[in-house]
Amino acid sequence: MSINLKKRLSKSAKLWLMANKEPICEECRTPERLTIDHIIPIMILTAMGFTVEEMFEDMDNLRLLCRECNTKKNCQLDFKDPRTKPLLLKYLERV
Ligand SMILES: [Zn+2]
Repeated sequence: MSINLKKRLSKSAKLWLMANKEPICEECRTPERLTIDHIIPIMILTAMGFTVEEMFEDMDNLRLLCRECNTKKNCQLDFKDPRTKPLLLKYLERV
């Protein structure tokens, strides 16, 4: 996986989310230290065979979390988020 490509895609996805959704953490609502979170985590998408480009083209799977909330989530599937299950099903269909 190219780190530079991932960095570039991650940066443009973050800018898109900040412009098109609220520029705050979806969990704790802070506007500080925002990061891009994949609702279906990158580790799982990688294991399913998706490319870096594919992981960043679907804005439905991306959300803003602050660094603390993202660290807490720790690459897990978060089924408290109602989007998790339909997104997982959508990705399973594409494999
Ligand atoms: Zn947060």
